[in-house]
Amino acid sequence: MKKVAIIVPCYNEEEVILESYRRTKEVVLSLPNPAEIIYINDGSKDKTRYLLDGIAVSDPRVKVIHFSRNFGHQPAVTAGVNNCDAELAIIIDADMQDPPELIPELLALQEKEQANVVYCVRNSRQGESIFKKFSAKMFYRMMNYMSEVDFPLDTGDFRLIDRKVMDEFDRFKERGKYIRGLISWVGFKQVPFYYDRDPRIAGETKYPLSKMLKFASNAMLYFSKKPLKLAAGLGFLSVIVGLFLAVWFTLGKIYGFSNAESGWTSIVTIVTFFGGVQLLTVGVLGQYIGILFDEVKARPEYIIDEKRNFEAESE
Ligand code: UDP
Ligand code: MG
Repeated sequence: MKKVAIIVPCYNEEEVILESYRRTKEVVLSLPNPAEIIYINDGSKDKTRYLLDGIAVSDPRVKVIHFSRNFGHQPAVTAGVNNCDAELAIIIDADMQDPPELIPELLALQEKEQANVVYCVRNSRQGESIFKKFSAKMFYRMMNYMSEVDFPLDTGDFRLIDRKVMDEFDRFKERGKYIRGLISWVGFKQVPFYYDRDPRIAGETKYPLSKMLKFASNAMLYFSKKPLKLAAGLGFLSVIVGLFLAVWFTLGKIYGFSNAESGWTSIVTIVTFFGGVQLLTVGVLGQYIGILFDEVKARPEYIIDEKRNFEAESE
């Protein structure tokens, strides 16, 4: 029987963590496979740390990684995968939006299809704002248009991956990981699993608009060079417009069909328009340079403060 690890990133989840553990543990106990839960405490400022330590003391099947501060959801999942020695791993949120009760079905599907990845596709999302649903829908479609790889639509990080995929994942050195995209990019046999996303059992979303924007722009910049092409296209277009205007006004002057002298408005319009185009394209370049800057520094993606219940194995 293959060993299964359930990877759960947590940030300020004191309201959900005990219930989340209770439900996940029931699933773990019902599995014929040996199983463990790996919680990554992503620098929570509430009682999450204390609660997780309590769980780890009473249950040796629970491993805990504490980060030194909040590094973000994607680094937390990365740490979970990097520290996982099981044959199969399931990545799941702490807030029970992705029901752990589906895990046996995921395992059965993996076994039946001999799949390397089972990715979970959201039929519906409950208890989320219209804005969140709409922006997520637009984002996944936009990503497919922008990137060189085709991603399955409406999937989050809730998925099952096998050892082969984890080993490949461990080789990724980039910092701004867009995990659902990377796993898709890795290849092998990937099969979908359709489910309905539940509302969060308690607490608030830990993805405020600022984090969502950062997540989306990272995904876009790491997976696509299209913004650069669009910037170049915009530059090309403005050159054409500029040439056309030059010819138009010159001929107008000769044949007397334009009154360019009195054209204060047109000059101001043109200057601001092209100024805008230039700033925009420089801005796009700047985004990529920023990424290069981060990648060249090659800082670690996350810093671990403490690990619980990992000792036994390393000996
Ligand atoms: N999370 C995290 N670090 C963060 C933000 C979120 O580890 O900086 C975790 C969070 O605890 C949860 C998962 O990532 O388990 C997804 O977050 P959330 O449910 O708040 O996002 P939403 O479902 O609203 O998109
Ligand atoms: Mg959630």
